[in-house]
Amino acid sequence: MSEQETSFRAPRGTYDLLPPASLEWRHVMGLAMDVFALSGYDPVETPIFEHTEVFERGVGEATEVVGKQMYTFTDRGDRSLTLRPEGTAPVVRAVLEHNLHRGPLPLKLAYAGPMFRQERPQKGRYRQFWQVGIEAIGVDAAALDAEVIELGQRFLRDCGVETTLLLNSIGHLDPDCRGGYLAELRRFLQARRDDLAEDDRDRVDRNPLRTFDSKERATVAVMKDAPLITDHLCADCDAHFAAVRALLGDLEVPYVLEPRLVRGLDYYTRTAFEFVSGELGSQNAVGGGGRYDGLAESLGGDALPGIGFALGIDRIVIARGTHEVPRRVHVYVVAVGDETAARAALKLATQLRRAGIGADLDLAGRSMKGQMKQASGSGARWAAILGERELASGKATLKDLTTSDQREVDVDQVAEVVRP
Ligand code: AMP
Repeated sequence: MSEQETSFRAPRGTYDLLPPASLEWRHVMGLAMDVFALSGYDPVETPIFEHTEVFERGVGEATEVVGKQMYTFTDRGDRSLTLRPEGTAPVVRAVLEHNLHRGPLPLKLAYAGPMFRQERPQKGRYRQFWQVGIEAIGVDAAALDAEVIELGQRFLRDCGVETTLLLNSIGHLDPDCRGGYLAELRRFLQARRDDLAEDDRDRVDRNPLRTFDSKERATVAVMKDAPLITDHLCADCDAHFAAVRALLGDLEVPYVLEPRLVRGLDYYTRTAFEFVSGELGSQNAVGGGGRYDGLAESLGGDALPGIGFALGIDRIVIARGTHEVPRRVHVYVVAVGDETAARAALKLATQLRRAGIGADLDLAGRSMKGQMKQASGSGARWAAILGERELASGKATLKDLTTSDQREVDVDQVAEVVRP
């Protein structure tokens, strides 16, 4: 480290993304947006911060995320703003604001960006983390659930992450469905309040479903005997869930039914799912999602069903089998000799770049040996060597760095010969 080492560090729970890790990051996010686009999901960007009510009303005040984890601040205009802890409520807010739901449905939107939650940092859990996600809004057909879930699973597979898909339905809020179930669950929990972990006891009255999220051993033991939502679904939600399962079967999407999966945010209705990986230790969820048919209304808009998911890039990168990413530099130009060779090298690299071919070169005056070392470190497939002999004849020696084969070509032909 240099003596000028800074005394500042990135804030707790955050980290700097530096090459080469940053390349993998961009690669995974780009891959996500490309795969999502193939199913018709167009990119959307919403602000990094929103009015605090968007999350209080959307995600739910009794959730961990809103109650304990938000970065909320008052700006100089005395407005309460919050760094977004998740992407769904902002996207639905934007849809309502711009009346996108008055156009053809479903709306299919995809996003990628940082989210913020003040959690206790550990491996796979940070205070600034990145998510990619999609939202399919305006249609409640089970086919949309199947499309969304299959897309999430396929993208994870394309990334090299093997996951298990956990699937559940948590019904809707009416008394003949989740409403009635919650009353029964609350009665069950009230009778066993003393057996629950201390931290979980206040959830019994406030938000009993959240007790299923607890990782505390005492609570987990109690929840083993708890009544299950899937035994209390109304006929419509039950039929919807059966249809989702049948369609996932058609698409050959393997899943495991998990009747205790409730997800951490209040807006979920009906289908809930999570992708978990064995590579991640205690933070084993790579991503998850579900239906949120009541979210638009809780934000003050029209009734508008929707379904989506969010996948954590930080965890995808940890769980990926390989950390290799396609390199962008295809040709490394090596100049041997004097100033004339160096100028010719910059010219050739520029020609290649203008032709859309990734090219780099040494600008620090390295020896030929040093330049060849740089060439192999750059990930380039080719070295284009310009020495005195080549310059005199208007040629370059092209060395294939994978096979070490060499041949001379006209400088003007280099782009054509190396074009991938
Ligand atoms: P959630 O909406 O909370 O289920 O989050 C969806 C996904 O985002 C999780 O499965 C994680 O991959 C990722 N995620 C959520 N919170 C964090 C965090 N604090 N640090 C890193 N990744 C996170």
